[in-house]
Amino acid sequence: MTTNRLTVLSGPAGVGKSTVVAYLREHEPRIWHSVSVTTRAMRPGEVEGGSYHFVDRDQFEAMIAAGAFLEYAEYAGNLYGTPRQPVEEHLAAGDLVLLEIEIQGARQVRQLMPDARLVFLAPPTWEELERRLRGRGTEPPDVIARRLDQARIELAAEAEFDAVILSSSVAEAARQLVALMAP
Ligand code: 5GP
Repeated sequence: MTTNRLTVLSGPAGVGKSTVVAYLREHEPRIWHSVSVTTRAMRPGEVEGGSYHFVDRDQFEAMIAAGAFLEYAEYAGNLYGTPRQPVEEHLAAGDLVLLEIEIQGARQVRQLMPDARLVFLAPPTWEELERRLRGRGTEPPDVIARRLDQARIELAAEAEFDAVILSSSVAEAARQLVALMAP
């Protein structure tokens, strides 16, 4: 199976990966988007099968045991994984496939599919990312401090990626990603 049409979009929390993906879902029909499985609680506005398939930990662990995941990782206390079969089917059909996952998952894809393209969405500046992660300032200082520490670790992974896109405007970041996927 050829895996060079597989692109992984990763980057630190808060950088806007899911906004870029939402934009592409609306504007770029050539791309097939993997729907991840997660144990985290549904947020307001989310629907089953939209941004995620929502399962409990037992169901997720049964899927791990069955080899159902291409990659999976624990992130901020929840499990997230990419179902293997649909990705393999769409690659076999020659589709452009996009995964939006965190960095541990991106590393697993790198090991498994060395031809996959790993794209890092980077914040325009550290100050901008910090502002986004602090949010409305309603969370306790230890929660914020943990988020900022995690973001520093995530930013250090940039050098492992094949390409870096600066997250300035959503449309421009999306345009650059499409240019990488379908030159
Ligand atoms: P959120 O809970 O905010 O939707 O996502 C948290 C993090 O999990 C984000 O960085 C997102 O990219 C990542 N993520 C979403 N789905 C997957 C997946 O299937 N695998 C991995 N490794 N990370 C994922």
